[in-house]
Amino acid sequence: MQFSLYNTLTRRAEPVAPMDGETFRFYCCGPTVYGPAHIGNFRTFVLQDTLRRLLDFLEVPTRHVRNVTDVDDKTIRQSQVEGVALSTFTDKWRDRFEVDCNALAVLRPHVTPSAVAHIPDQIRLIERLIEKGYAYKAEDGSVYYRIAAFSGYGKLSGLRAESRQANADNRLNSDDEYGKESWHDFALWKAWKPGDGENRWDSPWGPGRPGWHIECSAMSMRYLGESFDLHSGGVDLIFPHHENEIAQSEAATGRTFARHWFHIAHLQVDGAKMSKSLGNLYTLGDIVEWGYHPLDLRYVLISGHYRQTLNFSRQSLEAARSVLNRISGKLGPDATLDSGEANLSRLETDRFLPVVEALCHDLNTPQALGRLNEACRFERSESVSELDAIQRDLMRVLTLFGLEGIAQRTGEAVEVPPEIQTLAEERQVARSNRDWELADELRERLQELGWEVQDQPGGYTLRALSPLKAN
Ligand code: AMP
Ligand code: ZN
Repeated sequence: MQFSLYNTLTRRAEPVAPMDGETFRFYCCGPTVYGPAHIGNFRTFVLQDTLRRLLDFLEVPTRHVRNVTDVDDKTIRQSQVEGVALSTFTDKWRDRFEVDCNALAVLRPHVTPSAVAHIPDQIRLIERLIEKGYAYKAEDGSVYYRIAAFSGYGKLSGLRAESRQANADNRLNSDDEYGKESWHDFALWKAWKPGDGENRWDSPWGPGRPGWHIECSAMSMRYLGESFDLHSGGVDLIFPHHENEIAQSEAATGRTFARHWFHIAHLQVDGAKMSKSLGNLYTLGDIVEWGYHPLDLRYVLISGHYRQTLNFSRQSLEAARSVLNRISGKLGPDATLDSGEANLSRLETDRFLPVVEALCHDLNTPQALGRLNEACRFERSESVSELDAIQRDLMRVLTLFGLEGIAQRTGEAVEVPPEIQTLAEERQVARSNRDWELADELRERLQELGWEVQDQPGGYTLRALSPLKAN
């Protein structure tokens, strides 16, 4: 099956296949580890994981690299606020990121390099750029990239020189960048300032630290080679981060850096951009606290097409939960697969092929999930051997979405406090007495206490509701 994906660089869908005919090599910009990643970040990481899972399913060998940004203004500032060493601080948030990724069934990339551990690679790359005339040292010991020297600048974002004010305004360019030849040149090396404290590394230009863009150029080329298959991040990274990565890497090597650029549109919350000030910047911890499983969130994150902004709401989680409950009800009693079993060539029926086709068509996850739901309308009355094969195929196809763990997800025990149980029982009595007014009152009372009661034939279930809370 041919897999095609939109390429930001060429602005059209193109086949996804290893350029060396063997291994598909791809790089994803990883988290900046200064706090917990939010659910928007996870939209990007989960979609990148879905790309990886599709390649695995299609039996294309992959080499996946995702870095950790563990030195920048934010990590330095926050570690200083907490009074701990930068590495102690970033280790803590990197570990937390990995725990969240595990919970969301995001496969671990083959290599997860840290920026701090690769400073010598970054320095060598900067030296190459200086030698070739693409970079220059300023008086204070900082080194800048000379944008005017690279004729391909702007090819990814389509931005022309005059629109590059964003570079000057960007959060990464601090106010104290004196000595630049041009206001839109960007820092490759930042000379040490007293505010950086002990966070300084030696370089041929004096003590300092690398700029963010050079980190990703150096780490991607170290683990994937000078020219590789695909590079990815959220849409906010197209400019300036990825544009600058191309400028640095291609100027240094004279070769195409990444052939394919895969960008994921943003997640919004209740129709608004996520931000700390709006109090709508949620983490996986919040979602779990509201009583949902991480896979409910994963379903929501892949429920929209990656090229369109996705709106997150509490209702979308609720809907995801009920779909997943329905699907897991279709799995057989022994819903496990041996590793290496979950791929296209192992499918025993044609039932789920349309699902795979939808993913192969520009990673169309909403269409694929729609087809998955369709294909799950089979009955237990199918012949035993047919049913077994369908159920095994369902498990195989669930791995494509990272949803193979849904069977374990159901039936989670949430402890109900006795006073809540009592209120729910009282409400049940009111209902059997047809005292609807009292039943409604008790429902509201339960809701105020953070519990939702759902009536079911012959009974009810209780579900914990935690208030939406700001980070
Ligand atoms: P950061 O940790 O800020 O470097 O971001 C990690 C990844 O999350 C990057 O690929 C960003 O482009 C991506 N990202 C940031 N905000 C969002 C969002 N609201 N929706 C989707 N992806 C995002
Ligand atoms: Zn990057």
